[in-house]
Amino acid sequence: MSLVVVGSVAYDGVETPHGRVERMLGGSCTYAAVAASFFAPVGIVAVVGEDFAPADVDFLASRGIDLTGLERAAGKTFYWAGEYSADMNERTTLCTDLNVFAEFQPKLPEHYRRQPYLFLGNIQPALQRQVRAQMEELRLAGGDTMNYWIQNTREELLETLKEWDCLLINDSEARLLAGCHSLRRAAERVLQMGPQTLVVKRGEYGAILFHPGGHFIAPGYLLEDVFDPTGAGDSFAGGFLGHLAGRGAKAGEAGELRRAMIYGSVMGSFCCERFGVDRFRTLTRAEIDERFQEFKDLTEF
Ligand code: AMP
Repeated sequence: MSLVVVGSVAYDGVETPHGRVERMLGGSCTYAAVAASFFAPVGIVAVVGEDFAPADVDFLASRGIDLTGLERAAGKTFYWAGEYSADMNERTTLCTDLNVFAEFQPKLPEHYRRQPYLFLGNIQPALQRQVRAQMEELRLAGGDTMNYWIQNTREELLETLKEWDCLLINDSEARLLAGCHSLRRAAERVLQMGPQTLVVKRGEYGAILFHPGGHFIAPGYLLEDVFDPTGAGDSFAGGFLGHLAGRGAKAGEAGELRRAMIYGSVMGSFCCERFGVDRFRTLTRAEIDERFQEFKDLTEF
């Protein structure tokens, strides 16, 4: 194993203009770990309830994911439901039932602690910090957060960020965290908070990488149809960190960071092609590399 992924393993209810699914496998940890598993060996740290289906355990295991850190607690699995606008750029959360996630205290199995790569999915900053502190030989730590934590636990988040190499957030979160509208200025401010690399995700418009050497813009892949954007951000993070872990890259390697941005975009785009994690059930490494090449051809001038 090489990359440890922490976050939510959930059941999601999702409605998009293409249809509705009452309950399917989801969660930030699930999307990131499954996407990363195409690039590097992955182990997860998360909690599920007694209702977590054997078929879902089997799917994660089929991707070669180490499930030693997947705790099973008394109660129900975290449940989240959301609904998308007609253009799918807006999402309304309909329900967040924390269930077993409310008492989650991430515990890292012994063999996870010496792994070189870590992705901290979107959970309470104090818990992210707790996990980071348990890792003994990290080469690179990346993490995500959201508006709720930026607004409600700002000080705790700022302490947590100091120990990360890379922060991956969306544009509205970057603006909120930095307190300014210009993304360029916001990035400058965020880079002074600790991480030396910032990835600003911009949904269908792609993502921007900021680091002391400058910035790099990755386009979004132009899909004919977006079926379900749920988990695209986490899949981006999985592709990004997975590529770096697979290559054994360090935080400041500009060329690897750029390629990681494209693999992130590739995995985010595949995620949107079907509901939930379904596209990843049949995806192959050859398809990933073909789309990577397409990105290269599309942006050459
Ligand atoms: P994304 O579309 O990349 O923002 O990720 C959506 C996933 O995040 C869904 O599968 C949800 O189960 C999960 N999720 C939604 N809200 C939360 C939350 N408050 N904490 C942890 N995971 C969440």
